[in-house]
Amino acid sequence: MAIQARHGTGTEHDARIEHGVGLPRSGGSPAGGTTPSQRVMQVTVLGSGDAFGAGGRFHSAYVTEAPGATFLLDCGPSILQAAKQIGWDVGRLDAVLLSHLHGDHFGGVPFLFMEYLYEAPRTRPLVICGPEGTERRVKALFSALYERTAEDPMPFPVEYRELRAGDTIRLGEAQVTAIPVHHVPELTSFGYLVEVRGRRVLYSGDTAWTDELAAYARGVDLFICECSTYETRLDIHVSYPEIADRVQELGCRRVLLSHLGSEPLRRLSDITLECARDGMTVSL
Ligand SMILES: [Zn+2]
Ligand SMILES: [Zn+2]
Repeated sequence: MAIQARHGTGTEHDARIEHGVGLPRSGGSPAGGTTPSQRVMQVTVLGSGDAFGAGGRFHSAYVTEAPGATFLLDCGPSILQAAKQIGWDVGRLDAVLLSHLHGDHFGGVPFLFMEYLYEAPRTRPLVICGPEGTERRVKALFSALYERTAEDPMPFPVEYRELRAGDTIRLGEAQVTAIPVHHVPELTSFGYLVEVRGRRVLYSGDTAWTDELAAYARGVDLFICECSTYETRLDIHVSYPEIADRVQELGCRRVLLSHLGSEPLRRLSDITLECARDGMTVSL
């Protein structure tokens, strides 16, 4: 897998996104009736739940399979259960991209390490990308959970890449850009925009609803948007009415609500947008 990182300033980032809007499309109807020959990537929802496991759903984790690279967007603590539930082999992962350093999004990394150390021994490198502090927090978490094991050198290289907002990393044919989102003030938080041969997927991570988020989402083929609440309005998460009121003007080919909390799950009969389910796959 070829990996390249490019650091961008905010200005370059804006330019990049404008450029992305104009990328040529390869036709067909991605995220809808895509035929096998047209598919350029596949997204599997391993975990569509919130921090509290509302509805018994697994924590955040989304597999993206693109030509030349397979990677995870977020790695919640239930990663191994979620993958094994559907028979998905985590040994296929080349990289893990973390949206932010809250436990329900990165708490599964030590369990991946344990799988690779004991159950399915790994020798090839694993790339872990995330905001500043990723290497320190992942190592501290591993040490807290498996103190003795964490002291030994790993039999496979772990390559940490700490990203800044606007940075783009190339994973195989996928170009992944860390976009700034508005979550809690004490953490840098990203969404990720994944582009493969003109197809675009936006993953919101955890975020408030903002005009900037809406601008990034405009026209993408798949928008995986967090929806933590329904009636409660918070300035760190999206509530269902906030996205439902704006979704038409975004012009996305497909929108999937995820990171579903107890409020939206209690009111599924009032929700007209598609909700993610653990184990579902979207081909683009
Ligand atoms: Zn979360
Ligand atoms: Zn969070």
